[in-house]
Amino acid sequence: MLVPTMGALHEGHASLVFAAAGLSMRERGTGGAGAAPVVVSIFVNPTQFNDPRDLARYPRTLDSDVRLCQQAFQDGVRQGWGGGGAASGTPTAAGFEAGKPNLIIFAPMLETMYPTGTGETVPVPPLPPVATEPGLEDAHRPGHFAGVCQVVSRLFDLTRPSHAVFGEKDWQQLQVIRAMTQAQGRATRVVACPTVREEGNLSGLAMSSRNVFLSVEDRLRARVLSQALDAATTERTPAEAEETMSMLVSRAGLEVEYAVVRHAETLMPVTADDVRQGRGPWRSLIAARLMGVRLIDNAAWTPA
Ligand code: AMP
Repeated sequence: MLVPTMGALHEGHASLVFAAAGLSMRERGTGGAGAAPVVVSIFVNPTQFNDPRDLARYPRTLDSDVRLCQQAFQDGVRQGWGGGGAASGTPTAAGFEAGKPNLIIFAPMLETMYPTGTGETVPVPPLPPVATEPGLEDAHRPGHFAGVCQVVSRLFDLTRPSHAVFGEKDWQQLQVIRAMTQAQGRATRVVACPTVREEGNLSGLAMSSRNVFLSVEDRLRARVLSQALDAATTERTPAEAEETMSMLVSRAGLEVEYAVVRHAETLMPVTADDVRQGRGPWRSLIAARLMGVRLIDNAAWTPA
């Protein structure tokens, strides 16, 4: 089981580790080999950053990341065990025991991932159409998916995971990884986990490592992304949904990069006729900037 991350972990990442631990427990015994270890990779991958300032200021919090992974892993194992608490044999995350659930935190040096210290010697796999054609993250972050496919391929080669767990928060990335994994004929199963959102006064805001760059006031403003996604579901056509989302997000003072309804897998545009014919599923996706911080969010879309 592999959970690729860039660190600065929060409850969204914890939900992936929790899911991987549960999966590891469920798969246990099916091949007679005991639970597969869960590998959480923590690597701020320079090749997927198109903005050097974004890379330089990306938060790095390894000690608290390790604690969060251990807690989420133990919770997931306990849940997979039937919620029984400290039964005999309950694992700890320290030390590796064959056949028992094990958590491995893989926080490699740059040279481990890219032996000459740059990404150049590690091949970038062919990019699937969903990484180049939709005009969403591909257009606004040139080179981003080349870096993502490069690092995920490298991680897959190093760890040979039975499952790889990703968040729906990065919806286009999830589709790109699914397509790439299939095109490469890998046995790895890509598992998706729902977006974890803030509760209380920040209710709805998708958790993100970049939210730390926003003041409390701006985080409150950033809730408009999820509010706009909700509002889009009250519209009957993709065009109306797009207009409503753009209007709400820009009215809150954010700079909209895109606010669209697309086919959920290809991420290509949807016509009113597609909707009439039920050629879904569809997804609404927004990217916007607030105080120089780039925020993304997405949700399932069906016409009202
Ligand atoms: P990152 O560390 O930002 O590269 O993200 C690592 C993984 O965590 C990706 O699969 C993300 O989609 C996922 N992720 C990030 N934020 C969330 C969230 N709020 N809920 C669920 N998954 C998330």
